Amino acid sequence: MNRTHSEAAFARAKASIPGGVNSTVRAFRAVGGTPVFMRSGAGATITDIDGNTYLDYVLSWGPLVLGHAHPAVVAAIKTCAERGTSYGTPTEAESVLAELVVRDVPSIEKVRFCSSGTEATANAIRLARGYTKREKIIKFAGCYHGSADPFLIAAGSSALTNGKPNSAGITEGVARDTVVVEYNDLDAVRAAFSANPEQIAAIIVEPVVGNMGLVLPLPGFLEGLRDVTRANGALLIFDEVMTGWRVSRGGVQGKTGVMPDITTLGKVIGGGLPVGAFGGPAGIMDHLTPDGDVFQAGTLSGNPLAMAAGIATLSALDDASFDVLTALGARLVAGLSEVMTRRSVPHCTAQAGSMVGFFFTNGPVTNLTSAKTADTALYGRFFHAMLDRGIYLAPAQFEAGFISLAHTEADIDRTIAAADDAFTDVLMGART
Ligand SMILES: *Cc1c(COP(=O)(O)O)cnc(C)c1O
Repeated sequence: MNRTHSEAAFARAKASIPGGVNSTVRAFRAVGGTPVFMRSGAGATITDIDGNTYLDYVLSWGPLVLGHAHPAVVAAIKTCAERGTSYGTPTEAESVLAELVVRDVPSIEKVRFCSSGTEATANAIRLARGYTKREKIIKFAGCYHGSADPFLIAAGSSALTNGKPNSAGITEGVARDTVVVEYNDLDAVRAAFSANPEQIAAIIVEPVVGNMGLVLPLPGFLEGLRDVTRANGALLIFDEVMTGWRVSRGGVQGKTGVMPDITTLGKVIGGGLPVGAFGGPAGIMDHLTPDGDVFQAGTLSGNPLAMAAGIATLSALDDASFDVLTALGARLVAGLSEVMTRRSVPHCTAQAGSMVGFFFTNGPVTNLTSAKTADTALYGRFFHAMLDRGIYLAPAQFEAGFISLAHTEADIDRTIAAADDAFTDVLMGART
């Protein structure tokens, strides 16, 4: 596959943009090679600047649950743009999207919009600290909550992939206020509360983890977090930036019935435009300014274009959509698993609605330590073999895959066949 234009574009980008990218994972460091520069997307596919088209399982890292350039989303954005793109005043669209969020996410009575998932989690932590008058938070190794300082301690996603879990530039004070424990380890959580009596403001957790690869909570884990936070006067924050409208319509809480105090959202609710949100019961959310004393603000918060894209996206989803997405996810995971078993590739798989994942290790993968037993070199070779067969997977082992309503059963079957073919090269050690 010819990608000379991408190579030239990357060389150009590196001259004026650090590492040539505006988000670390895009640089392909985890899989080697040159990032592919895209020029367009349509449905389940993306097309690069050399004219190669790929079936897309990244979907802008999750937001595009309807696929690329969905007609309803494009129309909503166009109509909105023609009236102006931002006013810095309230608009009615904010209430429309807020009402859809309240309708779908069971624990949310009120929601505040911002411009990214990172902002959502940073604000949620400030709210939890302001509400509880406590300073420390518990997070789990390998969970990713955006790129704000408190979360870059043992973070997942590209912070993990780069092998530098602790970023430079994080103060000791911030590190001290972030207590890190292993995912799925309730005893470690209880120990953290005992070691920090009346100091823990909140636990923040990906209730299904999509940022160390796809890792599911063990039975009782989320319920245990609910109990231990309640018993200790701390808040429970579900970071559903990725899982919202993916694990189910109401995210993980909609599926499990375990209700957090604060939920953070993003990705799907922006329909491909920059957005984030955090919400919960009115009794907590009303602590935000102007009614309360926990400050929040943003020049483009609740931006009309983002609200329009979000409204169009959530409005296009019905209960049947989630059944379709879940069935497609199951078909993909079962097919890949069959191929890998037949070819004697050590692997384990996971699925949660339209999120799918596989690790090149026998597993089970339940936390960061077991995730790290995955063969990342094999993943790199597999990634490139799939790329050359027109399948765009996440350019790192420790990421989830995403399916959209634009994907078809034929697309899934083509992907499984491509994987089978790819392993012929990969297992011979040949780099295509
Ligand atoms: C993507 C993600 C974030 C950060 O969202 P951005 O919009 O990239 O800032 C936070 N939490 C989780 C679970 C995510 O997957």
